[in-house]
Amino acid sequence: MARLVMQPYKSCCSGLAKTSFLGYFSSSSSLVQASRRRNCLQQSLKSIHTSPKYTSSEVSCRRIHPLPFSSYSRIKQASRRLICSVATQPQPSQAEESKMDTPKEIFLKDYKMPNYYFDTVDLTFSLGEEHTIVSSKITVYPRIEGDSSPLVLEGEDLKLVSIKIDGKELKKEVYHLDSRHLTLSSAPSARFTLEIVTEIYPQKNTSLEGLYKSSGNFCTQCEAEGFRKITFYQDRPDIMAKYTCRVEGDKTLYPVLLSNGNLIEQGDLEGGKHYALWEDPHKKPCYLFALVAGQLQSRDDSFITRSGRNVSLRIWTPAEDLPKTVHAMYSLKAAMKWDEDVFGLEYDLDLFNIVAVPDFNMGAMENKSLNIFNSKLVLASPETASDADYAAILGVIGHEYFHNWTGNRVTCRDWFQLSLKEGLTVFRDQEFSSDMGSRSVKRIEDVSRLRNYQFPQDAGPIAHPVRPHSYIKMDNFYTGVLLSLS
Ligand SMILES: [Zn+2]
Repeated sequence: MARLVMQPYKSCCSGLAKTSFLGYFSSSSSLVQASRRRNCLQQSLKSIHTSPKYTSSEVSCRRIHPLPFSSYSRIKQASRRLICSVATQPQPSQAEESKMDTPKEIFLKDYKMPNYYFDTVDLTFSLGEEHTIVSSKITVYPRIEGDSSPLVLEGEDLKLVSIKIDGKELKKEVYHLDSRHLTLSSAPSARFTLEIVTEIYPQKNTSLEGLYKSSGNFCTQCEAEGFRKITFYQDRPDIMAKYTCRVEGDKTLYPVLLSNGNLIEQGDLEGGKHYALWEDPHKKPCYLFALVAGQLQSRDDSFITRSGRNVSLRIWTPAEDLPKTVHAMYSLKAAMKWDEDVFGLEYDLDLFNIVAVPDFNMGAMENKSLNIFNSKLVLASPETASDADYAAILGVIGHEYFHNWTGNRVTCRDWFQLSLKEGLTVFRDQEFSSDMGSRSVKRIEDVSRLRNYQFPQDAGPIAHPVRPHSYIKMDNFYTGVLLSLS
């Protein structure tokens, strides 16, 4: 995931940035060159840290171009928000909840393997204007055969319609429901099928987590813990399953129905509706689930991987934005080629979709084969975009694509490992941008961003280690270090 970062202030290096852009489209990137450059990177890093001459020139640049007051004020405001979210003072709505429902502090040392794993997850979404019905059919098996520990599922802002085990409706006595959990006190001790139907209200979901509707489109954001706003689930990254997703909706209002994986079936339904059935053959944690439905059009292209797989590439936007996606498509193809050349990693499905929507909480999100972006990080036209805009699009398209391996196929055990997937993927996108443009300029920009955004936070009250020992609200992990790097 990448956050939408504050516009970096124009440094004294903007002249250099322009020079770098001239070399933008004429890069070569062999493995040998890349590793030689990595050595150079380490050297230049060292020199940045050790050379007083370099440091003093940077300092003098910053004196000439101080960080604008508005940026400081935004950092302050963000800090204040974060302090509020970890404060011990309960919010009014939380105060009404019982002690059982108050969010608990999660400790790394308390990690336990799940009692149950999920094998396959078949989801059906019936999208509606008043509410949406989500049906899930999950194949569940206990970690230890014969164990019948309670199965605890997370769920927030959900209306439970029905719950069945192996086709039989459960009586209310055998499960417990509170505002954050659905607990099955005695789940079967061998493999079983769990079917849950929930009703959700995407039109009223202003958190922009889970499934929400905005500007006429349905859209999801599930990292880190948004999937629990879609259905009851073990919402943790070490629960990895194979998913299918059937999306049903009005054909006129939502002509495009997207989810993860390959499209295996689509057709018309009664009452002016239609459906699309998606299948993702790779196991994934639920934070990588995605669904988009709306009136979108696509720029289509293709990429042939080095093993000969023909991958369809589509970038979806509202019709009026389509002409501004040329650079994004160029960036995607460059990232796919670079990951093969430098890391030996090739794409593993037949289709890769990117959706750009204006109302997206994060800068961008690496959902498996359905990346969702804030429009700002996809759209560019020569009339209005600056060199920095083009560079940002290249870097973020690359970042989210590279997550396909570092984060998606190889994922986190728990959220304490967030910095592993983000740190490695940021390193990969920095290498990509360096190979595609000027390595020196890229490094100066990155170090400058660290100094302007990371250092002030690390000197303030919300400083925390890259891997804290505990958290109350997972969202706080995404500040500071990740914000400054992404
Ligand atoms: Zn990321």
